[in-house]
Amino acid sequence: MVDLDEKGYIKSIDGVHTKTKRIYVAGDARVKDLRQLTTAVSDGSIAATVAIKEMDK
Ligand SMILES: Cc1cc2nc3c(=O)[nH]c(=O)nc-3n(C[C@H](O)[C@H](O)[C@H](O)COP(=O)(O)OP(=O)(O)OC[C@H]3O[C@@H](n4cnc5c(N)ncnc54)[C@H](O)[C@@H]3O)c2cc1C
Repeated sequence: MVDLDEKGYIKSIDGVHTKTKRIYVAGDARVKDLRQLTTAVSDGSIAATVAIKEMDK
């Protein structure tokens, strides 16, 4: 349902969406340059907001 890179991290299309509709990714699990608390919290906030908007449609 999701694509992984060679290290096993989840690939995202735009930092939030995966290739499967309504499967989102955030934090250390995704392919990214910086794995820190601040970036994980940011990812989670954005993914949750996007998910709510898309589920409201
Ligand atoms: C030793 C160490 C020191 C660090 N020090 C710092 C620091 O000083 N400052 C900083 O900003 N960042 C630091 N980091 C990085 C920071 O901890 C991470 O970037 C951040 O915790 C990522 O948050 P996350 O929610 O994406 O993942 P995580 O915090 O790893 O949370 C993922 C959660 O998912 C759970 N989980 C996994 N698989 C499943 C499953 N199949 N079903 C249900 N639950 C599951 C795990 O048990 C875990 O609780 C450190 C990391 C490590 C390893």
